[in-house]
Amino acid sequence: MKSLKENCQKAHIVIIGSGIIGKFNALELSELGFQVTIIDPTQLQNSSNAALGLLMGNMYQKRRGRSWDLRKQSIELWPQWITFLQKFNCKLNIEKPLIQLTTNEEKFKKLEKFINENNDQNLRILERDSIFIKNINKAFQTKNLKGMISFKDGRINPFTLLQTLDKYLKHKKINFSKGEIIKIKKLNNQWISTTRNNENIKSDMIILCNSLKAVDLIDSISHKIALKPVLGQAMEIEINDAEVNLLSLPKQFSINGKNIIPKSKNKLIIGSTDEYSIKPEENTFEKLTNFLDKKPTWLIKGKISKKWYGIRSKPDGEASPIMKNLEGGLILCTGFYKNGILLAPACSKWVANEIKNYLF
Ligand SMILES: Cc1cc2nc3c(=O)[nH]c(=O)nc-3n(C[C@H](O)[C@H](O)[C@H](O)COP(=O)(O)OP(=O)(O)OC[C@H]3O[C@@H](n4cnc5c(N)ncnc54)[C@H](O)[C@@H]3O)c2cc1C
Repeated sequence: MKSLKENCQKAHIVIIGSGIIGKFNALELSELGFQVTIIDPTQLQNSSNAALGLLMGNMYQKRRGRSWDLRKQSIELWPQWITFLQKFNCKLNIEKPLIQLTTNEEKFKKLEKFINENNDQNLRILERDSIFIKNINKAFQTKNLKGMISFKDGRINPFTLLQTLDKYLKHKKINFSKGEIIKIKKLNNQWISTTRNNENIKSDMIILCNSLKAVDLIDSISHKIALKPVLGQAMEIEINDAEVNLLSLPKQFSINGKNIIPKSKNKLIIGSTDEYSIKPEENTFEKLTNFLDKKPTWLIKGKISKKWYGIRSKPDGEASPIMKNLEGGLILCTGFYKNGILLAPACSKWVANEIKNYLF
């Protein structure tokens, strides 16, 4: 009898879309021995390249249901993948911990209740006199910040991650096609993906990882799937205040829902917005800096040194993400409106299991 790896080597899988979800699926499947082809016309202009890379898994307050299960599995899988990928880039790492702060008393009470009920050593309420709170209060000129610290959550640099995955995929000689797929069909037990230039790519299975555009490739009569675009903006701000050293702050934290990542003594990243739109508005600075009643003076005077955005897909009428085995050999993996970086390992594990069940 042939081994699983020998059987996998024969099967060819096409992945449409090369954001984090497409690339992570390619990694998982390639390690199982499948022949993989990734197809994407513009791999650098996607929401994965806009992400901040925060992995908010363990601090997720709903500790049951599908969303928690995916998070829990990803939290367990990430360290194993990091160890594996460090062979291709020793700098790839998850920076821990992650701090979540609020000025809203009600929200803080919920946090306290969550921590008291969960008896998880990796989650703690931050004491008022903790060095983290002291430094953040001092820099942001506030007195009333409260919150929690999660020692199991953190941040992975999305740019480094995507680059490392590229290095791995190149090393494994994974086929990469720069086409845009405009049509897929099944013929004599094989799938055919047709590019805009009329090139046909044959495979045993297709995984749709092309975010919003996935719905254009599936039969809308048999499969009722709706996705809405959600724009997310982020920016890097340069400050000019000799008395503030942004490196005295934790490596990553959030205040009232805005994520903050100090980059150097005088630069920080703030993100991100959730807008039902595909075009960024002009008032990004205001939108991203209005997380406190009174902004610190250095932030008011700060200058945007970079800004960027990404368009994500939000499922309309069902939970995020959408992972479905649509019909013999066609898998849908989309709707990662948030947390696509965090959830990539658990989702690619699910896809791999579906593929194994379909083929063997
Ligand atoms: C500002 C911002 C901050 C974020 N911060 C975080 C964070 O801190 N943590 C986190 O976990 N997540 C974060 N996210 C969310 C995360 O970026 C997404 O969940 C994730 O990137 C979704 O990945 P994806 O592969 O599904 O989609 P994408 O990265 O958008 O990739 C889809 C790919 O499909 C390709 N494609 C489309 N149509 C076709 C076609 N017809 N043929 C071939 N290819 C096609 C596109 O070119 C694209 O490359 C953030 C997002 C934004 C915008």
